[in-house]
Amino acid sequence: MVYKRFYPVLLDAANRILAGHSCVLCGLRAESLTSPKAICQVCLAAIQLSGNCCYQCGISIKSTDGQQKCGECLHHPKPYHRLIASCHYDFPVNQAISRFKFDQQLHLGKALAKALSQLILDTYQDDELPQLLIPIPLHRKRLAERGFNQSQLIAKTISHNILIPTVVNQLIRVKNTPHQIGLKATQRKQNLKNAFKVKSQLPRHIALIDDVVTTGSTITEATKQCLKHGAETIDIWCLAKT
Ligand SMILES: [Zn+2]
Ligand SMILES: [Zn+2]
Repeated sequence: MVYKRFYPVLLDAANRILAGHSCVLCGLRAESLTSPKAICQVCLAAIQLSGNCCYQCGISIKSTDGQQKCGECLHHPKPYHRLIASCHYDFPVNQAISRFKFDQQLHLGKALAKALSQLILDTYQDDELPQLLIPIPLHRKRLAERGFNQSQLIAKTISHNILIPTVVNQLIRVKNTPHQIGLKATQRKQNLKNAFKVKSQLPRHIALIDDVVTTGSTITEATKQCLKHGAETIDIWCLAKT
């Protein structure tokens, strides 16, 4: 009888504990999480970029007087139109991206791409969204090593969330560049020269999707190729900018 009285109380407590899913970053259960591949509000607030960023290259800028570009982009404009990065490349995002890429923890990439999708929708508002998403390709040898292209998975997740198609194999990587980590910007640039090829005509406005943008050499080189094949405005969307 006692049990009968307490049963509804226990059931209610159990339901509340089990409601929602666990955050992929902190592991805590949150009622607001409606999918098992998501990041809780507390983690999102901690990892997302805040403050003013340069419209074109995405670095943090102090200016609040309406100046949207950093000094570097004002003097040496990038070939791409704008860059949107959703997170700081710090713990736990750097660790999550590395587990996503090198340990096939695909749910981490999907969760971060979902957060990026929301940021894109919030950022563009009345601005025209690109007509097509193109993931930065891997060379076929690198693809065989890793088993999947992380940028393609990010692009597909964004496509699913904001309903813009992704095409693969339109932009291809014809040069197998060595790992760029630790290399100087000039060396990176040299390695990436003619690394990409565009296979057919592109629409006017596209977005290139990458996991992490570091010096920008890769996206710059890919942008230059796309500009030669019909694209006029190229936006860059990435999970993180170092
Ligand atoms: Zn969390
Ligand atoms: Zn800039």
